[in-house]
Amino acid sequence: MVNTPTETFDLVIRNGRVIDPSTSTDTIADIGIKNGSICALALPGTILEGKEAIDADGLVVAPGFIDIHTHEDLEMLPRNHETSPGDLRIAPSPPHYTMNAFLLDGVTTMIGGNCGISFYPLAGYFNLLEQEGCLINYASYGGHNTYRGLAGAGDRQLPATAEQVKSMAELAQQDLDGGALGISYGIMYAPGTSYAEMLAMARVAAARGGLAASHARCGWDGPEALDSMNEMISIARDSGITMQYSHIGSMAGYGEYMDACLAAMSKAQSEGIRVFADVYPYGAWMTNLGSAILDDGFFERNNCEPADLESSGDIQVDGKMIMKRGERYTQESFYRIRALTMDGKIPDPFVIGHVIKQDKIQSAMLNPFVMIGSDGGAVVDTKTGKLFGHPRTAGTRARFLGEFVRQGKLMDLVTAIYKCSTLPAEVLGLKKKGGLFVGADADITIFDADRITDTAKFGTGFLSPPEGIAYVLVNGVPLVDKGKIVPGIRPGKVIRRQA
Ligand SMILES: [Zn+2]
Repeated sequence: MVNTPTETFDLVIRNGRVIDPSTSTDTIADIGIKNGSICALALPGTILEGKEAIDADGLVVAPGFIDIHTHEDLEMLPRNHETSPGDLRIAPSPPHYTMNAFLLDGVTTMIGGNCGISFYPLAGYFNLLEQEGCLINYASYGGHNTYRGLAGAGDRQLPATAEQVKSMAELAQQDLDGGALGISYGIMYAPGTSYAEMLAMARVAAARGGLAASHARCGWDGPEALDSMNEMISIARDSGITMQYSHIGSMAGYGEYMDACLAAMSKAQSEGIRVFADVYPYGAWMTNLGSAILDDGFFERNNCEPADLESSGDIQVDGKMIMKRGERYTQESFYRIRALTMDGKIPDPFVIGHVIKQDKIQSAMLNPFVMIGSDGGAVVDTKTGKLFGHPRTAGTRARFLGEFVRQGKLMDLVTAIYKCSTLPAEVLGLKKKGGLFVGADADITIFDADRITDTAKFGTGFLSPPEGIAYVLVNGVPLVDKGKIVPGIRPGKVIRRQA
């Protein structure tokens, strides 16, 4: 605690329950903020003077949540900007609707470029974001699949040639020098990828102090799930890179293999290999209907049926509605609509698969190397500005803290906040984030631990914001004030990997 009663701060947060897992702090205290940083922590009674004040009496004051796994890179940009090549060339939607969803869920920093897909070149994208202004803080991986496409290795069933790997490595190097966090893989989307190819890319990132994030090879129930984890552990061991195993719930949350994957990860950690994972707190994933995961054998492998699949949007053919948002598939509609997708007769729609087991997600959450990440991304109805899609985009943190931590008593609040903020900051090497210590960036989420609840649900349509998150500060600026977005300001920063 620092006592600086004579200083006047830009903003003072008073009387909150300050929880900072990075310093094992859990106490009632005041926080003084100046120039975007935390400059003082003081026991109540030591009145800190501020130009403005937030009364956090009865609320938890936590380091801002860091979403280590998101898919909303395009949404960082205002509307109508031309984007660079790659899979992100989707219809631009109005600015910041999805960003607002993350923000109202307490997120102050989001990590993009996941699952092998990123903007290229990242340096140019970062500059553009800085010109336009960033709502919340943003950093990005460089996507392996994006580099594959640019290097001419477009056939997802074939390994890249030595020459292609060489040019992919050059592209990755360029992005790393431009501030990319590291390399992200989407191996399931390019199953022809060889181990040698993956290792070459990891070595490029590791040589520059970067990380790797991996949508691994297998996302269904079977021994391949464990093989996929072991493959990524091997990459981490052979390259020396820190590996983040993406959305472990949707990779291994179907049966006995979750526990085996978690055990393999913990064992690797005990041997000094840095492998971590993220998980989202839902029993369903979302992907494209045309994705290879839904190829023949999917229902048998996962012991499920078409009725476990939900359409996340309305599907139309020639202006005629053939499937409504929230509707479950039947045997007949699944094969019919998937054929339309595969034949290119309709745009590939999103599908939500209710096939992940809740107890397996809980096992993942309890592992000390697993953090909370949303895998979020939503669809905007441009007429109404409402968001649709998987509820994880709007409620990951609120659901974790409400349903799993408060109601389910899965872990204490300090550990829960560690998984939402401190651990991601440590893994990413963000030394001024993930804590509420003097000198930290003033990214702060203030919520009511007795009330925090997600309200976005499956099958119901639009993604409503959670309840119980009162204030969200990004670099010292309140962007959420008494639960409402403060419009017209963009205090976020682009975070470039520090060499
Ligand atoms: Zn993924």
